[in-house]
Parts: sequence; C-alpha cells; structure tokens
Amino acid sequence: MKIRIGQGYDVHRLVEGADFWLGGILVPHTHGAIGHSDADVLIHTICDALLGAANMRDIGFHYSDQDAKYKGIDSKILLKDVVKMLREKGYEIGNIDATICLQAPKVNPHIPAMKKCLAEVMGIEEEDVSIKATTTEKLGFVGKKEGVAAFAVALITK
Ligand SMILES: [Zn+2]
Repeated sequence: MKIRIGQGYDVHRLVEGADFWLGGILVPHTHGAIGHSDADVLIHTICDALLGAANMRDIGFHYSDQDAKYKGIDSKILLKDVVKMLREKGYEIGNIDATICLQAPKVNPHIPAMKKCLAEVMGIEEEDVSIKATTTEKLGFVGKKEGVAAFAVALITK
C-alpha cells in the first residue's frame, strides 16, 4: 500500500454582515468571511491538503477565482469534486486533521456539526475527520479579527 501526506493553508478576510461559512455550515456571527466562492476557509484548506497529497496542484488551479462559474459557489461542491478526482486516481482518504485559527466567535460548539457535514461530503467516517480550533492570543490579523486562517493535513492511500 502506498501512503501519501499533504498539507493545506488558507486565509480569508472577515467583514461585518457577511455570511460565515465554515466547515460546511453557517456559523452565526456579526462578521463573515469573504472571497470569490462562499469563502469556507476550512474546506479550501482540506481541498488543498488532499490535492497536495495526490500531487494534483491546488484549489486555485482547478477552480479559478477568475471564473464566473465559481462565484459564490458552495465549497462543499468543490470538496466533493476534489474527492472524486482523487478516487479516479485510485486514492482513498485515510484521515484529515485540521486547525482553524479564529479570534471570535468560539468555534468549539460547532465542531461536531462540521465534522458530520464534511465526513458526509467526503464519504468517510466522522472518526477520520479531526477539526481543532485556536485563537492567536489577539496577535496578528487573526487576533485583530481581520481574518480567519486554517491549516490541514491529509493522509491518502492507494
Ligand atoms: Zn479560500
């Protein structure tokens, strides 16, 4: 069996009044992330980790932010497509471990719903999707509530 690992990193700006899509769910908050798609930083990070593990470039390569087709798109559609591309190459997902960096709101209460949602989208067990959250102790753009960042690693097998 071949085992491969990939990592992902993504950042989105936070603005007042925007919807806050995170980990496939809508998080109630005064501010939300903005971008060309629905700006779901966690899903984008996971897509990049999976694509990286398979050496298939990155999310921007497959779904250009210059393409009107992806304007406002639900990132779950992109993740589903990434997983489909991996499976077509003969890969299966082993596990995913992700960290969300966000000053506010508290993410922990939403993690079970995110895990359930993302496991469903990827067609894997919830047990194989780990989501963690941290603030940055009020330091940097995350700490100043200007943005949200996320990291992920993914393990895939063939
Ligand atoms: Zn993104």
